[in-house]
Amino acid sequence: MGCQLIDGKKVSLEVKDALKGRMAALKEQYGRVPCLAVIIVGENPASQSYVRGKVKACEYVGMESRLVALPETVSEAELLSVVDGLNRDAAVDGVLVQLPLPAHIDEDKVINGIVPEKDVDGFHPRNVADLWLGAKCTVPCTPKGVMHLLDAYGIDPAGKLAVVIGRSNIVGKPVAKLLLDRNATVVMAHSRTKNLRELTLQADILVVAVGRAGLVTGDMVKPGAAVIDVGINRGADGKLHGDVDFDSAAAVAGYLTPVPGGVGPMTIAMLMENTVECYLGRISTCSLA
Ligand code: NDP
Repeated sequence: MGCQLIDGKKVSLEVKDALKGRMAALKEQYGRVPCLAVIIVGENPASQSYVRGKVKACEYVGMESRLVALPETVSEAELLSVVDGLNRDAAVDGVLVQLPLPAHIDEDKVINGIVPEKDVDGFHPRNVADLWLGAKCTVPCTPKGVMHLLDAYGIDPAGKLAVVIGRSNIVGKPVAKLLLDRNATVVMAHSRTKNLRELTLQADILVVAVGRAGLVTGDMVKPGAAVIDVGINRGADGKLHGDVDFDSAAAVAGYLTPVPGGVGPMTIAMLMENTVECYLGRISTCSLA
């Protein structure tokens, strides 16, 4: 049968092109394009690269971006006041604080400091609660990107057994909820799960979000399964590797995302989509000027 590669680069480009195509009309109708503010603290190279990618995507789509770079030594109070300024700025639609933050800053406090209407990452407790209650909310970018990829390749979760490895607030838990919403039967696995292989071998859809290169090997994959590799691990070779051993999994899976070029680009595309959604959401409640 062969394994179909899930091309996140291609699908993300389609999403960004569709958004790009809407910009002129949005500007015409509402007087300006959406604006995303990105705050970065310190000089973490991975964070810098992610932030560059986000700003570049805004440029590609034709949206405004504001990059606020703060020193590693910035105090929590100063950071909160920058967030507050962006919350109050009518010309800003989305506020994102790149994680991780330095140890002296309480990440939860900062995330909670972003008004839910501008929380493009979907990490604010109100968005999290709304997601779990099935209410309208901003869906976190990576889980939303995973679902978009499944849809793009015609993989319907309904009635399937989905196994999600990893239970973080930003990936594992929300992706499990989204799969549940689409009527999958969902099993969540984590570091204390016993007999992981027994579970994964039953999975029609396997989402892996752990952060351990090669954790999932081909002998853990059900023939024909859709395998979504969220993991990003930098190897000793300097290259990026997923959590799934690509070659052995590709020999068994029906669908597989590569790393890089799978979920990663989708995360950024969904961030662009969320920024437009926050912008449109704000139109009904306040002036965008
Ligand atoms: P976390 O470190 O927050 O969570 C990792 C999860 O994996 C935990 O739930 C942990 O279990 C579980 N785990 C650890 N070891 C094992 C094991 N041996 N077997 C089964 N489960 C295990 O990570 P994140 O969710 O933030 O990120 C996961 C990966 O996804 C990382 O590589 C990250 O870089 C990547 N990522 C990629 C994104 C993208 O855009 N493509 C976006 C966000 C993240 P426990 O809870 O028991 O500790």
